[in-house]
Order: sequence, then structure tokens, then C-alpha cells
Amino acid sequence: MSEKSAVRVRFCPSPTGSPHVGLARTALFNWAFARHHGGTFVFRIEDTDAARDSQESYETLLEVMDWLGFSWDEGPEIGGPHAPYRQSERFDVYADVARRLLEAGRAYRCYCSQEELDERNERARKEARTPGYDGHCRELRAEQVAAYEAEGRRPVVRLRMPDRAIAFDDLVRGEITFQPEHVPDYVLVRGNGHPLYTLVNPVDDALMEITHVLRGEDLLSSTPRQIALYEALGEIGIGDGTPPRFGHLPYVMGQGNKKLSKRDPESNLLGYRDRGFLPEGLLNYLALLGWAIAEDRDIFSMDEMVAAFDIARVNPNPARFDLKKAEAINATHLRALSVDELAERMVPYLQRAGILGEDVTEEQRRLLGAAAPLVQERMGTLGEAVEMVGFLLVDDRAFTRDPADTAKLLATDDGRAVVQAAHDALAALSTWDTASIEEALRTALIDGLGLKPRNAFGPVRVAVTGRRVSPPLFESLELLGRESSLARLEDAGRA
Ligand code: GLU
Ligand code: ZN
Repeated sequence: MSEKSAVRVRFCPSPTGSPHVGLARTALFNWAFARHHGGTFVFRIEDTDAARDSQESYETLLEVMDWLGFSWDEGPEIGGPHAPYRQSERFDVYADVARRLLEAGRAYRCYCSQEELDERNERARKEARTPGYDGHCRELRAEQVAAYEAEGRRPVVRLRMPDRAIAFDDLVRGEITFQPEHVPDYVLVRGNGHPLYTLVNPVDDALMEITHVLRGEDLLSSTPRQIALYEALGEIGIGDGTPPRFGHLPYVMGQGNKKLSKRDPESNLLGYRDRGFLPEGLLNYLALLGWAIAEDRDIFSMDEMVAAFDIARVNPNPARFDLKKAEAINATHLRALSVDELAERMVPYLQRAGILGEDVTEEQRRLLGAAAPLVQERMGTLGEAVEMVGFLLVDDRAFTRDPADTAKLLATDDGRAVVQAAHDALAALSTWDTASIEEALRTALIDGLGLKPRNAFGPVRVAVTGRRVSPPLFESLELLGRESSLARLEDAGRA
């Protein structure tokens, strides 16, 4: 591929609110497409709406990109040949383009008030005509302009749409045609001079030489407008008038066959990080929202996705977001980690819960490494590490038990008798290892007290791990060590 025709895609979110999964899916498909073609992944921030955009949201976007591992080739923080990449720093560019479009006659000033537009739309509906801007101000005479100006009206700038159908070959959906009556002249710049998404997005795509636009289906209706604007931009010397190729990614549906909304809790991207999804697990799931690596295969790495990704094989039909499936896929990725890697990745979650300090000691690392294989099969997310292995890492004074489990299994006559017997049996042990611990407890509780295993080991488990669900008990006791185990059993006898 020549330098000029090399793939250039962009991911261009607006920094409003908290990033959602739909956004990450769009970023993923653009990133995979760029990497597959050895192209350029441009990251651009569409922050021209000061009322809705926030610095906090911008910083969260950077954080999320970092967490998901989407390195960008041009964009904020790193710059590039088309800097700046934050649209809030490009207002002079847009003002200049708007002026040139007006001068070339490709755009015009429209003085209609909202009331006048509403009234004419209403009339169109009554007369069974298609509503939408009617071209009222396309050819205003100088006196009319002067009269409007004298009234103090502040004009918007509209693009003059061509009076013909606009067709394009969508990379996902194939040939799509829009008739001119459905794409009226539209506003590029507000009456107060503020440029809109309708202007700034295609202008930057043209200036940044974007070759492929992959984005959500909700933006499909803006595509014919953008194609027309591209042509107009070509005429004023921005780009060559050829629009990029468009590919509209399928809707993501949530519960009850409604579109997944930003407000649905499962769409909050940071929620996945905070629960301890692996980025590769979440991305694997997001890839399945519209794409498949093979018919009978759900699990793959990002390297495999990049190698196989083909936009023509994206399914145009709505995809359904299934949290259970996302969790299952994540758990599969967790199980595939090496034990060392798993131990390492649990650390930040244990730190956040206050179980580990900023500096992790050698002894804590050793314990984590030993505990990781015990919990790997039982974990769905890294966040579960807190409950699964936390008891091994906190010292006995900071150790706490689940109150409900304690009430049920420990704070009863039976419970107290069990932990007393367990304590005495373990205190007598000369070797502290899994096999000896198991034998001592079986002898004391099952043979001695005549208990069923469940009733025998449940109270011991709550006593030393704090919970009814834990890694395997005898291994846990070995790891916890004689001193702590006995101290906790003794303490539990007083529960
Ligand atoms: N800033 C726009 C959005 O977040 C980008 C749309 C596009 O990809 O063209 O919806
Ligand atoms: Zn008008």
C-alpha cells in the first residue's frame, strides 16, 4: 500500500459522563482494523460542547484507553502531524472552514427563527409533505438579508445539500441510498458562531486524512450529510472531496430488547475494571458484539483478533449484551493466566481494599503465589481476590469474619464445640502441612465428634478464613501457618 492510501482510522469520543461499553466496542473495532492493516489509529477528543464536556471525563477516557491497552499513534498527550487532537483547541480551524464554505457558496446563512421553522414543519406535516428545512434562505436577496440583520437576527450557517440521492457502500451493510428530501440543508454553525458536530467531525476527518470511519449505527443518518460536506470541502481545497469508507457497527441491545443505554449499570466501563475484569477478557467479549473469529469459537486473544479481523465480516444485526457470557469469558481468561501473572494482577485489588500496603513484602508475595493456584479455578474476577485470599494476608488483629456466616456456623454450641476440638487437634500436631492437618481434623471431628464433613469443616472454615466460601481448607490452614490458625480458632471459640 502506498503512503497515501494507508489505512487511517479514528476513535473520537466526546468527553461526557462516564465511558460506556459501546464506546469501547467502537474503539476496539477501529484499533483492530488499524492494527490488522498496519495502519494508523488516531485518537481525537470531540470536546466542542463546553456545557457537556468535562476535564474529568477526558481524564477517565485516557485512563480507560490505557487500561484496555489501546495505544494510539496520534492524539492527545503524544501529538502528531495533525495536532492538536482536542477539538476545543481547533476553533480557529473551524471558523476558517465555515468562512470559506460561505464564500464558495457551498454554505449559506439562514435567518429563520425556531418558531418559523416549527410552523413551516407543522404545515408540511399537515399537507403530507416531508418535514425538514425547506431551503427558505438558500437564495435570499440583499434587501432581505439587510432587513433580517436590522431585526437583530443572528444567522446559523447551513450546508447547501445537493439535489440528488446520495449513495455509499457501507463496509458492514452494503449499498445504502438516501433520497434528497430526507437530507435537508443542515446547520454547521450556530447563531452564536459555535461550530457543531456536523461540521467539526467531517472537517477533522478530512484534515486528518481518515480513510475509514467505523462507528455505531446510530450515526448512519448523518453519513449522507457528511459525504456532501466532504465534496464541498474538496472544492475549497480541504482533501480531494472523496469521503472515507464508512462502516456502521450494529446496535448493542440490553435487557428486554431495548438498546443498551449509557445509564444501564452494565454499560459502565469503569465498573468492569473496578470489579476486576481482565482487559483481555472484556475485550474478547466486546469483540463478539458484532464479530466472530470463527463459528464455534468464543475465546481468543487480541493478537488473534488483530490477525483475523475483517470489517466485511461484521454482522449488521443488533448484538445482545449478555453479562453472564461476559463473566464466563473473563473467567476463562483468568484461568489461562500463569500462576505468577494471576498473583501479580491481584495485587492492585488487594491494595485498594487496604489488605496490602503500597509496598508488598516478600512474605506477602510468597503467600499470594502459593494461594493463586488454589483460587484460580474459583474466581470470576480479580476483585474476588479480596474475599478469597484476603484472610491470608491480613494480620490476626485486622482479621474479620463475615457476620452472617459467623452467626450461622460459629456462634452456636455446636460451632464452638467444633472449633475447640479442631484447635486442640491442630495444637498437638508436630508437622504443619496439608496432609497432617487434614488427617488431624478428620480424626478429631468426623471420627471423634461423629460429624458429617460439611458440619465439621464449615465452622473451621469460618473461624480461620472468615467466610463459608474459601479456597480449599487444609491448604489454606497450611498457608496461614500454625500460629495464626490456632489463634483464630481460639478466638472463634469465644464468638
Ligand atoms: N464524537 C462523536 C460521538 O461520540 C463521534 C461520532 C463519529 O464517530 O463520527 O458520538
Ligand atoms: Zn432559513
